[in-house]
Amino acid sequence: MKQVTQRICPQCGYANGATANFCLQCGAALTAANDFQVVPHGTDLSFPVTGLDLTTAERAQLRHLIITMSPTIPTGYQSAGPIFVESAVAPQASQLAAWENLITHLYALLLTRHYLGAVHLQIQPQSADSSQLCLYGEALTAAPHS
Ligand SMILES: [Zn+2]
Repeated sequence: MKQVTQRICPQCGYANGATANFCLQCGAALTAANDFQVVPHGTDLSFPVTGLDLTTAERAQLRHLIITMSPTIPTGYQSAGPIFVESAVAPQASQLAAWENLITHLYALLLTRHYLGAVHLQIQPQSADSSQLCLYGEALTAAPHS
């Protein structure tokens, strides 16, 4: 699966480029310790959102979700518990269709429950049918300010 490295700002949560030494949004100093393998989403046209009728505010929110396979929770966030999503495409559908359907369901779950993202994602075929996928991981919410 395609992933990119981004430096997630520990102060404001903004996803910066992998080589950024300072946050583009708030100016906080960043190091390799802030690097996360992020699944591209939202604005990445290779992962279109299908079947979701989103408002402008929801589209903006989508772009700020942190979605990563990493087990590490970025600073400033906390686990909100496990999440589970299934694709629901016809048997014999393409893997791409299953993947798009899965991600659409993930977005719907994160947006409707007001989560800020998902970490530690695992994606597996359901039973022997590789055209149907399930995804599980942990949802993120903001950590309380100390
Ligand atoms: Zn920042």
